[in-house]
Amino acid sequence: MKIAILVREETMQRCTGKGCLNAFFQRKDAFAAYGDHAELVTFSHAGGDLDRKIEMMIKNGVDVVHLSSCMRGKADNYEELAMRLSEHFDVVGYTHGGEEGKERATIMRKKLAASTDAN
Ligand code: SF4
Repeated sequence: MKIAILVREETMQRCTGKGCLNAFFQRKDAFAAYGDHAELVTFSHAGGDLDRKIEMMIKNGVDVVHLSSCMRGKADNYEELAMRLSEHFDVVGYTHGGEEGKERATIMRKKLAASTDAN
């Protein structure tokens, strides 16, 4: 199982990602159900050339993209991004903290069946 974490670009100006990374490596919160073989292959923000990042994640065999908890809390394009990513990957809409968001509901989307990616 290959995992990607995409975080909010503005938050990355001041956050080192410790909460996301701790949750992944300690297999807690959004990552609690993964076994020892889950591999983190992408940790990036969702800005910049996102098409290129998606292309690279497909190439690298990413199965599940986690949108960060700060994305759930503050990003205007949270839902839109989850829809777009679910064309290629399963999407889990948080990383650390509670499964239920305070500001909005947590998105959980399966990869769309119509996708033709070979991963
Ligand atoms: S979810 Fe938490 S640890 Fe991860 S980037 Fe956002 S503020 Fe930082």
